[in-house]
Amino acid sequence: MTFQSFNPPLRTLMGPGPSDVHPRVLSAMARPTVGHLDPSFIGMMDEVKTLLQYAFQTENPLTFPVSAPGSAGMETCFANLIEAGDKVIVCINGVFGMRMKENVERCGGIPIVVEDAWGRPVDANKVEDALKKNPDVKIVAFVQAETSTGVHSDPAVLCKLAQNYGALSIVDAVTSVGGMPVLVDEWGVDAIYSGTQKCLSCVPGLSPVTFSPRAMEVMKQRKSKVQSWFLDMNLVMGYWGEGKSRSYHHTAPVNTLYALHESLVMLHNEGIENAWHRHAKNHLALKVGLEAMGLRFAVDEAHRLPQLNAIVIPEGVDDAKLRSQALERFGLEIGAGLGAFAGKIWRIGLMGQSSSPRHVIMCLTVLESLLSDAKADIECGKAIDAAQKILF
Ligand SMILES: *Cc1c(COP(=O)(O)O)cnc(C)c1O
Repeated sequence: MTFQSFNPPLRTLMGPGPSDVHPRVLSAMARPTVGHLDPSFIGMMDEVKTLLQYAFQTENPLTFPVSAPGSAGMETCFANLIEAGDKVIVCINGVFGMRMKENVERCGGIPIVVEDAWGRPVDANKVEDALKKNPDVKIVAFVQAETSTGVHSDPAVLCKLAQNYGALSIVDAVTSVGGMPVLVDEWGVDAIYSGTQKCLSCVPGLSPVTFSPRAMEVMKQRKSKVQSWFLDMNLVMGYWGEGKSRSYHHTAPVNTLYALHESLVMLHNEGIENAWHRHAKNHLALKVGLEAMGLRFAVDEAHRLPQLNAIVIPEGVDDAKLRSQALERFGLEIGAGLGAFAGKIWRIGLMGQSSSPRHVIMCLTVLESLLSDAKADIECGKAIDAAQKILF
């Protein structure tokens, strides 16, 4: 048997992540590997922490990237803050809320589920009822940007509620950081995690997290050891913590961290408000284009994510066939529906580098081409005009 290099095809990534990665980030990754305790590398790590504080809009000293994807950031927050028997309100309105519940159970916590329908935001009234009924709740956990449904839930309101009842908050911001406001200090978030491959447009494999001083205090007061050696913040901080005396915990993914540094430099150069604004504008252009074609969103306008558009698949269209034609004919990846939404919606990502006029126009063109080919009942010839009025 002989083997050859893997040469991936050129794709345009407009699914639920990963998003397109800028060549600047990819070439940063190809720079020479240095030791993970090399003095030059340690300087870069400090910059990564500062740039992540900017991305999260926080001054939390405990801010760094976990060496594994978004789900590991999730697990880091739950594993470090929960001890056996702790009660945690988990808000479920899609796949990632379900994953949170799974984490609570595996940490020995007691989940109190507040459920909302797929496609709906977390209902703060239900969360408040659950807090009233369970005065001993330790944590309220919810997903700001539910990538499985394209729904936004309001962290300003939910974190305030948690605070009012003396609970901590854990927020999933995997799809929100870089694509819409995430204001950790202003909202008083206690633990929050993100991912590199969504609106930060870096390669997959790292999960930025940040903890409030209040959360740090709770972790210090733990009676039991964190059951995960790898994710135990007390140990990880020997490497990522303050001061010069960094010591070996695990070998950091050196080159992936170069990539994250580069993508954060790009975000900082653009300005985070400008990045939020760009995501909002491209979303609006895609929206008017899709609507001109006669397509509908699965989510009410008030709760839509700019970076993840859940679109109802028109009657009679073969979901899997259309997505594979988009990929084969045009190199365009769009996302399938998950769980309750499988076969019912497409998930069109406009994340990070994939949030641009080029992506909006390409997506509209490809959908119009394939849907008219499939004899779907759509309006042809109007989408591009409509989108261009917003874009230019
Ligand atoms: C993608 C995603 C995750 C999981 O991130 P991975 O990098 O795939 O582990 C968690 N939560 C949300 C909201 C996501 O979109």
